[in-house]
Amino acid sequence: MHGVGVGRGIAAGKALRMPDRLTPPTDAPLEGDAEGEVQRATDALHQVAGDLMSRGETVGGEAQDVLQAAALMAQDPALADDVAARIRAGVNAEFAVQEAFGQFKQMLVALGGYMAERATDLDDVAQRVIAQLRGVPAPGVPMSDEPFVLIARDLAPADTATLDLDKVLGLVTQDGGPTSHTAILARSKSITAIVGVPELLDKVSDRQLIIADARSGEVTLDPTAEQQEAAEAERIKRAEVANAPITPGALADGTPVQLLANVGRPEEAAAALELGAEGVGLFRTEFLFLDSKTPPTVEQQTEQYAAMLRAFEGKKVVVRVLDAGADKPLAFLNDDDEENPALGLRGIRALRANEKVLRDQLQALADADAATDADLWVMAPMIANAEETEYFVTISREYGLKTVGAMAEVPSIALQGSQVLERCDFVSIGTNDLTQYTFAADRLLGTVAQFQDPWQPAVLRLVGMLGDAGAAADKPVGVCGEAAADPALAAVLVGLGVTSLSMSAAALGDVRAELKSVTLEEARERAARALTAVDAAEARRFAAGA
Ligand code: PEP
Ligand code: MG
Repeated sequence: MHGVGVGRGIAAGKALRMPDRLTPPTDAPLEGDAEGEVQRATDALHQVAGDLMSRGETVGGEAQDVLQAAALMAQDPALADDVAARIRAGVNAEFAVQEAFGQFKQMLVALGGYMAERATDLDDVAQRVIAQLRGVPAPGVPMSDEPFVLIARDLAPADTATLDLDKVLGLVTQDGGPTSHTAILARSKSITAIVGVPELLDKVSDRQLIIADARSGEVTLDPTAEQQEAAEAERIKRAEVANAPITPGALADGTPVQLLANVGRPEEAAAALELGAEGVGLFRTEFLFLDSKTPPTVEQQTEQYAAMLRAFEGKKVVVRVLDAGADKPLAFLNDDDEENPALGLRGIRALRANEKVLRDQLQALADADAATDADLWVMAPMIANAEETEYFVTISREYGLKTVGAMAEVPSIALQGSQVLERCDFVSIGTNDLTQYTFAADRLLGTVAQFQDPWQPAVLRLVGMLGDAGAAADKPVGVCGEAAADPALAAVLVGLGVTSLSMSAAALGDVRAELKSVTLEEARERAARALTAVDAAEARRFAAGA
């Protein structure tokens, strides 16, 4: 089976399925003996309280306090009385538990503060009691004494965030895509994960042996002993690579690929440097002024830009001038109502319409540059053609800015790559918007999310055209969209001619490790295979050689 791998880990072990959420009990009238039903409910409450207590003792620490508090809820005499009274009034135990806990929850919410925060814990306890009454497994991450690979339809963010990483070797879900919350959390916690595996729940049963290889997105059921040994060897090898000392980004054959960080404020610099960022590939300056009603002054801006440049002394820092509009409106740049703001006066178009704002920003960048020792590059968002490139380069040079480039986010620019590169010093591809505009699919809209995938061969083709144009002009072509953070895709991008990759700093380690495992020739082969695919899923598979 195949899905979308997150990161590049590999997990092998027994599968454990996360039970689906319970269907809510209905208020079917009680048919049997009320006292027998009260006893059944009392037993279930005791059983759940006991389970929670003993689980708490096993895990210890802070989790023990949480589990003990939950056990106390299940033992609460007022709740037990309420459940009994409801049963005696003629409903079944499951429904009585749901109603009694529900009412208690409302009371806690009304009290506010700390008590209100505990209210959702009651839901969890109620679900456990109802599961006990039905004789089915309790919902939530299953408990196990031995490590396991967790199988789920999808995980709630709270489940993903609190996974016991000593027990959960990896995570495989049927739902979810590369930008789902499960994938994002798994990436940030470095959990080996594969999401979006069709028919997963029909095919995997509890305790079945499974190998999940996030790098290829491949899920193997009932592996042979040899496959298991190979997976274990691979796991050790990858762990070694992941823990390897931080070195400059390079392929296995030594071809350098600069690995840079995407940042929004100077405070993020330290963490990015610690993770080995060789500089900044995208400083989203608009993030500094999202709440400003009036344009920031030259001095205010100089201070922020100088702080960033100082943090990256001696390194490259690519600053993007304000990208206002669509999902990131700035009050002082976007004051018109537009029916389709993503297609309107955004990015360089908004700046050109308010040239004073652009000039102030360029002045602030020049001042910050003069006061610091980083290698400042500036670029403009949403450049659509050679004329806009020329406009931005000319005006930037007026302020003495030396390295000036264009972001490639609108497909038209890829179709005229050589004319654009003739007029500027570099191109940086924003794959998030490039994908949105190539597919005419709003990047914020869940209903068209299937298009918002940079593995789409049409997007890869545009990247390849820009890569070729960059090589012909002997000028750098980077990628600074989310695509650069996907290790397998990063290698394909390099194969398409991309010379630097900029990403959220958390992704640097995985991308660095993946690049180290491929030569330029292999990266080109992967890219060539991906380009022949009909869709994103096939491109992923073809690139992996499957
Ligand atoms: C992009 O569009 O890929 C990009 C890097 O810019 P942003 O995500 O800020 O629009
Ligand atoms: Mg963009």
